[in-house]
Amino acid sequence: MSIANKWEERRKNKLSAVLSILLLFLSLSLVFSQTLQIANASTNQKAAASRVVVTAPDLNVRESGGNTSKIIDVVHKGETFTVIQTVNHWTEVKLANQQTGWLYSGYVKKIASKVETEATVHAPALNIRQEPDLSSDVIGQLPSGAKIQVLKEQGGWANIVTTSKVSGWVDKSYLTQQQTSSSQEADHEHSSTQTRSGLTKSNEQAQQTESKHPNPTPLKGKVIVLDPGHGGKDAGTTSRFTGTHEKTLNLATAATVEQRLEGAGALVIMTRTTDIFIPLEDRAAVSNENHADAFISFHYNWSNDPSAKGISDFYYQASRDHLLAANVINEVAKSTGLEDNGSGWNNLSVLRNNTQPSILLELGFLSNQTDNATAESSGFPDQVAQGVYQGLFNYFQTID
Ligand SMILES: [Zn+2]
Repeated sequence: MSIANKWEERRKNKLSAVLSILLLFLSLSLVFSQTLQIANASTNQKAAASRVVVTAPDLNVRESGGNTSKIIDVVHKGETFTVIQTVNHWTEVKLANQQTGWLYSGYVKKIASKVETEATVHAPALNIRQEPDLSSDVIGQLPSGAKIQVLKEQGGWANIVTTSKVSGWVDKSYLTQQQTSSSQEADHEHSSTQTRSGLTKSNEQAQQTESKHPNPTPLKGKVIVLDPGHGGKDAGTTSRFTGTHEKTLNLATAATVEQRLEGAGALVIMTRTTDIFIPLEDRAAVSNENHADAFISFHYNWSNDPSAKGISDFYYQASRDHLLAANVINEVAKSTGLEDNGSGWNNLSVLRNNTQPSILLELGFLSNQTDNATAESSGFPDQVAQGVYQGLFNYFQTID
């Protein structure tokens, strides 16, 4: 071995020693951070995911809890946030950019929901992403068997919160969901909505909606509870022609309405976002506990008479609900082109147990060939969404 070769050998040995130390350091820090994560997860396990809605027009977001803390952002009425913790009169929330901040608790309201869904991960390492998109950043990972809360669903994605308060999106096909609310026998209220008697044409009432001082954004900040009828073991009616279950159409329609109303600045709360069974009293309770400005239950109708067709909506307390019912059915009839059977009184659980303005929409007969074809056409949910939006727009402009 020449002198030059020896030098080369020593240089290589030195390099590999440096590399080994570096690798050791890296693996140690990896183990350390994982231990930290596990410790973090176990201390927070009891906390359930909750959300708040901002009730003040403009609300400062502070770096920590206290009036003298630095202002880092401003949020607005109707915006909702996942709660991390509450300390004294301050609520720490997760902001849109995955950062956190503190809001004064007097200007936020907790969103009550009976329908939070617990789920279990069944994949070896499930990525949590920032957005419901495969190209979005991975912000965490869940081991198989991990328990999480599902807040909402969108496409094939579930918006989740882990026990250590990490929130993000996961592929929902790797989740097994369990409903956490109590299970009761279905009250077969749908059968009582199949009558067409007692309905009144709504055009006259709905035309009285012009305001002297029109508000250009009457839905902004309004709390709207949407209730997709039936679900889980309760399929509702079934199409005479295609076998499609009513519960499936109700959910698809309400989800499209949700998007439309959120786009107009409303705070929308869904009684269910998946195919689960929810007792009728729990649906009204979501409306009552959130002091909904409007509650709308979505259904499709059925009759032994195949010629029965058209849409209608129902209310329970005329002085409170009739204007809402008239405005909505009038606009949904226009946007869908279906026959308008008007609004009528009906003794339905979700309306009777409601303390808020509430209606139940029947969006056509799945026993009528024309209605069914329209109801199952791809553009129908958007048409309904446009009608519900315009109906609520007119209604709030009238009463505000
Ligand atoms: Zn129904």
